[in-house]
Amino acid sequence: APASGETRQARSTAQYRALDAAHHIHPFSDMGTLNRTGSRVITKAKGVYLWDSDGNQIIDGMAGLWCVNVGYGRKELADAAYQQIQELPFYNTFFKTTHPPVIELSALLAEITPAPFNHFFYCNSGSEGNDTVLRIAHRFWSAQGKPSKKYVISRKNGYHGSTIAGGTLGGMGYMHEQMPSKVEHIVHIDQPYFFGEAEGNLTPEEFALARAQQLEAKILELGAENVAAFIGEPFQGAGGVIFPASTYWPEIQRICRKYDILLVADEVIGGFGRTGEWFAHQHFGFEPDLMTLAKGLTSGYVPMGAVALHDRVAKVIVENGEFNHGLTYSGHPVAAAVAVANLKLLRDEKIVERVKTDTGPYFQKLLRETFANHPIIGEIAGTGLVAGLQLAEDPKARKRFANGGDVGTICRDFCFNGNLIMRATGDRMLLSPPLVITRGEIDEIVSKAKKAIDATAQQMGLS
Ligand code: PMP
Repeated sequence: APASGETRQARSTAQYRALDAAHHIHPFSDMGTLNRTGSRVITKAKGVYLWDSDGNQIIDGMAGLWCVNVGYGRKELADAAYQQIQELPFYNTFFKTTHPPVIELSALLAEITPAPFNHFFYCNSGSEGNDTVLRIAHRFWSAQGKPSKKYVISRKNGYHGSTIAGGTLGGMGYMHEQMPSKVEHIVHIDQPYFFGEAEGNLTPEEFALARAQQLEAKILELGAENVAAFIGEPFQGAGGVIFPASTYWPEIQRICRKYDILLVADEVIGGFGRTGEWFAHQHFGFEPDLMTLAKGLTSGYVPMGAVALHDRVAKVIVENGEFNHGLTYSGHPVAAAVAVANLKLLRDEKIVERVKTDTGPYFQKLLRETFANHPIIGEIAGTGLVAGLQLAEDPKARKRFANGGDVGTICRDFCFNGNLIMRATGDRMLLSPPLVITRGEIDEIVSKAKKAIDATAQQMGLS
């Protein structure tokens, strides 16, 4: 394959597609179908905009995959990577060594995270972060003479990654079906998805409380002496931007404390400003023992993940001998240097603050005004710069489409054709733009989303 190394050579869209179809297997894709239609080839990006190989300008309503928090094209991050590659492109952090970028990053994370988080373990992704969570949770209990505390409880329709452990922790049945085996000692309870799953006349608060209490029932079923941890995304991202009512997390926290179970917040999407707080658990008002971090940590410019340890967990890990876990690229110097530059932008340019006080409230209000009484919008969930729009056949009766996933795909395709990236999870349409988005760009996203959703309603005969 002589031409394969020439990645910067400009080719026609048709040439790119032919090579892509011939040699590249995409994640979570039906490659037979994709190869027949061809992928969109994204060639460059700036701010909140992408360009494809045909020169179309597309507004990115998803910040890549919920990760490009500072927007595309920030020179500060390019410079940090360039300098670090010249100075020390790699050194490991095994065998009694360390290096300045990982030290600076750890000290900065200790400042940015809530006060009890002062220790960080690094990896390359959210999935590896959750693998690490399992290792830390087990080590935490076994070091204290409680090795039977092994079970980790998570939720159906949660997403925690695609390694075997991440995929098992997640509650996506279609992923479980394709696994040769699952990690043991992982069980699931129901999700707090009011629109889709509440029955009878329960209020959202009553429903969320009942769903949280499933945790207590599960702990009692397994025996608290056998349960290590509960893990959840403060709001479910890939599952459809599902926001639990205010009663949910305080009850989960109460139950974890009562039975001495570690509470893990998977902050891979929620972390680094998405909700207008630095971390989504702060929005929901609870305090986890461990946090999984990735995505916004580097704004996706280079891969990096981390686990943040609460002092009470860190103390046990630090004081009990060797922790037999690590990755070649744990604390990679280039990733760490980019993360430091990224976090400084988020902090010093007051990007997170702006999401909380200005762009977040503006975005949420505009969505709610624009889609008030819309014939196929049943619910708008979200805060800050993340939102989930529920498509529904009869919004007032909370009646979903029988073929919801198809309706979502139809809507997603209308967005695509209108040069807006919006993601569909089943029958929910998702938005999670870069945090640097301006009010004018928010107007553009919402008006393009309105056009696509109107067109979807028309196609369904419901406009
Ligand atoms: N946790 C959550 C909440 C996520 O949304 C994701 C990815 N979307 C992951 C973990 C896995 O992260 P990665 O894809 O970087 O492995």
